[in-house]
Amino acid sequence: MKEEPRTVVLATLDHGDVILPEPAWCVGHADHRPDSYRVDLCHTGSEHQLTHDGELLWTASLGQAPCASRPQGRTLGVYVAQDGYARTLDPSACTTSPRPSMRTQTTSANSPPS
Ligand SMILES: [Zn+2]
Repeated sequence: MKEEPRTVVLATLDHGDVILPEPAWCVGHADHRPDSYRVDLCHTGSEHQLTHDGELLWTASLGQAPCASRPQGRTLGVYVAQDGYARTLDPSACTTSPRPSMRTQTTSANSPPS
């Protein structure tokens, strides 16, 4: 038995109720306002947070505005926002380990020929 695609009905100021296919990644439209314009309707995914020492640096989520006036807004993208964190990070907090593949390349370049 084929499952019907999920849809959502959203009231708009300029087009009345708009029925949209609801992507599986959308968290819903609990904050939707009926005085929205159709071009402003947006699917939003769950929010992901990047933190440093417990402070929020960035948030990111999937986003798509299927009725946007610009074609770029209609495609699925990642919405990114900075949370106002502005500070110089201690260099010791920014160290990274070389990737295993890079370490392997360095070792083989410095190894004597066999
Ligand atoms: Zn949605």
